[in-house]
Amino acid sequence: MTDQVHVFALPMTTRFRGITEREGLVFAGTGGWGEWSPFLDYDTPEIEPWLRCAEEAAAGDWPAPVRESVPVNATVPAVGPERAHEIVSRSGCATAKVKVADPGQSLADDIARVEAVRDALGPTGRVRIDVNGLWTVDEALAAIKVLDRAAGGLEYVEQPCLTVEELAEVRRKVNVPIAADESIRRAADPYRVRDLEAADVAVLKVQPLGGVRACLRIAEDIELPCVVSSALETSVGMAAGIALAAALPELPYACGLGTVSMFHEDLVVTSLLPSGGVLPVLGASPAPERLETDPALRATPERAAFWSKRLADVLAYRQNQNGERNIRGYGN
Ligand SMILES: [Mg+2]
Repeated sequence: MTDQVHVFALPMTTRFRGITEREGLVFAGTGGWGEWSPFLDYDTPEIEPWLRCAEEAAAGDWPAPVRESVPVNATVPAVGPERAHEIVSRSGCATAKVKVADPGQSLADDIARVEAVRDALGPTGRVRIDVNGLWTVDEALAAIKVLDRAAGGLEYVEQPCLTVEELAEVRRKVNVPIAADESIRRAADPYRVRDLEAADVAVLKVQPLGGVRACLRIAEDIELPCVVSSALETSVGMAAGIALAAALPELPYACGLGTVSMFHEDLVVTSLLPSGGVLPVLGASPAPERLETDPALRATPERAAFWSKRLADVLAYRQNQNGERNIRGYGN
């Protein structure tokens, strides 16, 4: 890692995980830039793989792409049907992911939203729903049936319930494919999803799973179709997700990488926003050029100090782990 570490704070258009500002750091390596932006509620061991992803990007160590562009889905939050229709029509995407099961809304609201999205996409578009783990198994069984009908066929249901065991149970009882998202947070999780036959589709995020090459290995091991999704990176970090989507041997589903639009600002001059429902594949991550010209994108000294400490903690943790590994290796 170089001394050129910048801590950023970008205002968001939508509240996400209770925050309205996304923080992280970017640094340059010999092959590009890396973004390290683990969520604030993740602890030290959990955020170490996120750093590996940034280091891989900064080293320019991505596998060769097998495609030139990556299809992405439009995301429809828990809005009314008119607004849902408008979001999808304007997106240019052939696939829409519809948030359902929002607390404070009813199944009737979800049905109306899904019907509006189908109408906007036309018969050839694909509609998937994202439940974020909010249903019980019984709720999932009832709701999936109704929403599958309202959608004129769902592409898949993302994380209908919280646990892997519940996903497996729902999957055995419905005829709609199930995707695991929140159930895949650490490197071991995709294997558990596979072993319990809990999903038909795995949602992979490059930062939590340790980078592009690590995700490619997981995809190969678990033998499930994969969808690449963002962890709400800026355009600098988004390039890594796109690199994974570009390198996967098969990409049967549109990816959740069109999320840069959730920021008011970006670190780069030309943001990685989809056009015509696809994102271009880049050879390396773009430089955060706007950090030079716009000091408002930098975190306050206080927050920068927080991130320096967080980084130091992870590096110390890593050194400790390596030390332990060496000692164990020596003993054997
Ligand atoms: Mg999801």
